[in-house]
Order: sequence, then C-alpha cells, then structure tokens
Amino acid sequence: MEFEIWWLLAFPLFFVLGWLAARVDIKQVVTESRALPNSYFRGLNFLLNEQPDKAIEAFLEVVKLEPETIDLHFALGALFRRRGELDRAIRMHENLLEREGLAEEQRLRAQGELGQDYLKAGLLDRAEQVFGKLLETPQHGLARTYLLEIYVQEKDWQKAIDAARELEKDTSKPLNADIAHFYCELALLDAARGQPEAAAAHLQQALATNRQSVRANLMAGDLDAAAGQHKAAIADWRLVETQSTVHMALVVERVLGSYRQLGRLQEGVQWLRALYARQPSQDVFSALYLAVSETEGAAAATQLAREELRRNPSLRTLDRLLEAQLVNAEPGERELLQVEKSLVAAHSQRMMRYQCDSCGFKAKQFFWRCPACGRWDSFDPERHEGES
Ligand SMILES: [Zn+2]
Repeated sequence: MEFEIWWLLAFPLFFVLGWLAARVDIKQVVTESRALPNSYFRGLNFLLNEQPDKAIEAFLEVVKLEPETIDLHFALGALFRRRGELDRAIRMHENLLEREGLAEEQRLRAQGELGQDYLKAGLLDRAEQVFGKLLETPQHGLARTYLLEIYVQEKDWQKAIDAARELEKDTSKPLNADIAHFYCELALLDAARGQPEAAAAHLQQALATNRQSVRANLMAGDLDAAAGQHKAAIADWRLVETQSTVHMALVVERVLGSYRQLGRLQEGVQWLRALYARQPSQDVFSALYLAVSETEGAAAATQLAREELRRNPSLRTLDRLLEAQLVNAEPGERELLQVEKSLVAAHSQRMMRYQCDSCGFKAKQFFWRCPACGRWDSFDPERHEGES
C-alpha cells in the first residue's frame, strides 16, 4: 500500500522539482508512475465495479511484479476463500509460509489463514494440526475459537467441552450455554448406547453448567418416559416452563403422552388449558385442540377452534375448525368440507416451519444448533406460517 501512495505523492513532487531544476524529463516520470500502480488501480476499479474475476487477475499481476506486497497476498487469499476457491487460497497462504525472511507476526497470520482455508475445505485433520501449533503463540485466541468449531463439526464433544472452557479463560466470554449443549450431546450418545444412567449424569452436568438448559430437562423427561417413569417425566418437562415459556411448544405433546400413559389424560388437558391461557401459541393450541377433541368431543373442540380463529386467524386454526365441523357435518355437506379441509391442511402443513433467528434458515424439524449457520439456540421453538 505504502508503495502506491508514495507514487501518487511522487508524481507531482518530481514534476515540481524537475520544473524548478529546469530539466524536466516528463516522459521518464510518466513511465515510472505507470509501471506498477496501474494494475493495482485497475484491480481496485474492477473490485468497485463488482468484477472480482478481473480484479483478481489485475492483483495477481501486481503480486508477480512486486512480490513484497504481503498485505495484497493476504487480501487475495481471503478473497479466494470467500469465493470458495479454496485451492487458490491454500496455495496463496502456503506460498507466503515458504518465503524466507517473513516476519514472525506475518508467518503466524498466514498459518491462521491457512487453517481457515483447510476448515472451509472440510480438511478438519489438517486444520486441527495448524491451529494446534498456534496454541502456544499470541494467536491462541483465534486458534481456540477454530479448534472448538472443528471439535463440534467432528462431534468430539468431550474435546469441545475442554476447548470451550479454555476459550472462556481466553476471552472471558461465557460459553456455559454451549457447553451445556455439549453435555446434552454426550447424554444423547449414552442413551443411544443403552446407558441411561450415564446419560442422566451428563444431563446433570449440563444443568450444573447452565441452570437454564431447557434441553437438559427435556431430555431428562425423555429418559424417564422411556423407562416408564411417567410421573417423573411430567415433572421434568414441566420444569421447562420455569426456564422458558416459549419452549413449552416442544414439550406439550410429550406431557400429554405421559398423562395418557398414566390414564390421566383429563388432568393433562386441564393443565394444558391453563398453560394455553399463559402461552397462547399455535403449537400449544394445536396440542390442546387434539386433546380436547379426544376427551371432550367435537363440539368442545369446535368451540375452542372458533375462539382461537377469532383471536389469531391462521390457516392451521382454520384447518382445525374445518376438521371439527367435518365430524358434525350432514352427509350432503361432507364432501365439500372434505375438499376444503384437505386444501387448507396441505397448504398450512407446507408452510409451518421452524426458523433460525440468526440466518433465517427454515426447517420442518426443530434444531438446537442451526445446520446452516452453526449457531446454538438460534431456532425459535414455535413454528410459524410463512412463505414456503
Ligand atoms: Zn442459522
């Protein structure tokens, strides 16, 4: 950069000096001022005109003519990586590292960049190796951040827990919510291996790390229910309301299921009606509607759907109302109602989505970690109707 600015300053300076000395060699000055910066400025122009291909060509020319432009190497490497041209990014940073006499600070920076290239290319082993080497250097904060990312991608949860705890020390930014998820992931593996005690112990560690871990209570309920301990399961799940009311949307079906298993569905419906008054969301309504039609019959369910439709007009509620009317319909009306209902149901099913608050990714399934942007706890636990 300094080089080009020097040239900009140099041109008028030479001009004036030359003029004063009365031996102006304009031709020479113009040739020199054009020698290097031209391709640099051409590159900048292309970049500003959003023609990155041509910009890269021009910058590569500068790099070839003037190999000392280290910053430009870094800028090009980052540009390649952002565009997904990972081979070129890797080559750019490897070339830098092979240089003799590269300052230590720049060598570490090039290693950090190379590690990020490997990570983006999915070469996790190589990325881990590069960042591992940076742990004992001033770049340790960056190294730990990416190592944590690597362990999460590799689903090596124990290493992720250790790395996150080290990173907390480095940055003094609390990561307890993430660490609780790592314990929940370990519990999930225990449960899949048929080790419920180990799973329960990991869930306890999750709660000890983050008392607000909704997922830990939700999974504790799942473990109890799987063991036939439905009373305990209901108690675990109802704890979720003390942590986060909106997350009850994920829990209501489970709670009703356990009440049903206990032969106390009516009690479950009472509880759900009270919850619905506190948390009148579509998912809670949906569960309540099904439970009411099962225990109190179609008339009570229709009444419920009418009230909900008035309060919160949505396709899903309309679908429920049509469903309730269908049950009571005269044979002559039935056919038309059936067509209406299946149209509305198909449409509302297609449109009901969970969504990531961070990147906007939509999915039919709820995720604790967004599969698109990788953020934990970024999914809204309530489904919403939206553009499909
Ligand atoms: Zn996301």
